[in-house]
Amino acid sequence: MSSDAVAALDARHVWHPYTQHWQAPAPVDVVRARGATLHTRDGRAILDAISSWWVTLHGHAEPTIAEAIAEQARTLEQVIFAGFTHAPAAELAAALARVLPDGLTRIFYSDDGSTAVEAALKIALQWWHNRGEPRRLIAALEHAYHGDTFGAMSVGARSIFSAPFDPQLFEVARLPDPSEDADATLAAFDRLLDTRGRELAALIVEPLVLGAGGMRMWQESTLRALAERCRAAGVLLIADEVMTGFGRTGALFACERAGVAPDMVCMSKGITGGFLPMGATAVREELFAGFLSEDRTRTLFHGHSYTANPITCAAALASLRLLESGASAGARARIEAAHRRHLATLGAHPLVRAPRVLGTIAALDLGDARAAGGYLNPIGRELATYALEQGVLLRPLGDACYVLPPFCTTDAELARVYDVVARFLDGARATGTAA
Ligand SMILES: *Cc1c(COP(=O)(O)O)cnc(C)c1O
Repeated sequence: MSSDAVAALDARHVWHPYTQHWQAPAPVDVVRARGATLHTRDGRAILDAISSWWVTLHGHAEPTIAEAIAEQARTLEQVIFAGFTHAPAAELAAALARVLPDGLTRIFYSDDGSTAVEAALKIALQWWHNRGEPRRLIAALEHAYHGDTFGAMSVGARSIFSAPFDPQLFEVARLPDPSEDADATLAAFDRLLDTRGRELAALIVEPLVLGAGGMRMWQESTLRALAERCRAAGVLLIADEVMTGFGRTGALFACERAGVAPDMVCMSKGITGGFLPMGATAVREELFAGFLSEDRTRTLFHGHSYTANPITCAAALASLRLLESGASAGARARIEAAHRRHLATLGAHPLVRAPRVLGTIAALDLGDARAAGGYLNPIGRELATYALEQGVLLRPLGDACYVLPPFCTTDAELARVYDVVARFLDGARATGTAA
């Protein structure tokens, strides 16, 4: 098919995510990808510095995962998961339980990050309900992002994204953003526990990095302090590791870095190495046990048609095998070191604020402080446009620019990414557009 034909069909029939079609440029038509590089139909190579929305873990078209998928597709492609099981799902659950923080022994499969969060919220609320002491309140952080379905949106920050739906979203107790003022977060949580502790079913957090809220990084000690308070008050702690999981923060899970064992962990994005959609919610055995009863109304009546799809599970198992290799740990450490080297230089640029690194994730805020202005701040879009012209895929969150590369990304490739950012900022400074 020709470029023009694809563009015409797309323009006529496709509705893209997070896209204002009235003004968006024509989408880039990608025909294949390998490693950290996307290849377009018109022959350009684009360096994927954001892991295609944070999913591509090892690299595009990683051969061992591709092979595991092909093999599984020829063997068992799909089977109902109520009343049936299969080796890939059972093995993957065991493998996840082994690598997750202690005590997370049960895996509930779903389809993506949002559904992993929905399942966690429903498990928390029904667990309290089943105990006969209903608690209906969920606490969450300011600037949080947990997905785009209604429950996930409810616990996420209220924003321009949620505004049309705000009246339909359920009430959430909101704690201040710990990346801004951790003491305020803890003090607000203490007050909440004092006043409404008996209503509080769970606290949900993105451990150590508020991702879509602007790659806002927060301290391990704050996460530990929140976890201790949850434990003492009997409030469930849900760690949404959809973005941070599977090595992004250097360790396999952000909670592991902090030495925190939450009651539930939500996973998706990198779980299959970025090949196929999958969600998984890991829970402690006590939570699972709270649903066991002669009384059938205590069942978790929740599930999705493609739950634990065998091909997806096979991809996840192959990805985990790679992730646990010394080579992957070495690549993650190398990327972190490269981020730190580059930010040490770029961080001194007058149009760079708050350079920060956590494992393989690097971020900085663009423009001087007066220009800061949230998701609709144009400087991020300008950088994205410039970078794409230079053959680098970046997608800043408003004025927050981040580099979140697949683990195969070489030092030379990373140098190219940072060079593009530096050249953009020099240009912006020269023309005064960002000051
Ligand atoms: C992306 C993300 C989600 C939502 O995942 P989807 O697969 O896009 O539904 C949830 N939580 C966090 C922390 C995320 O980064």
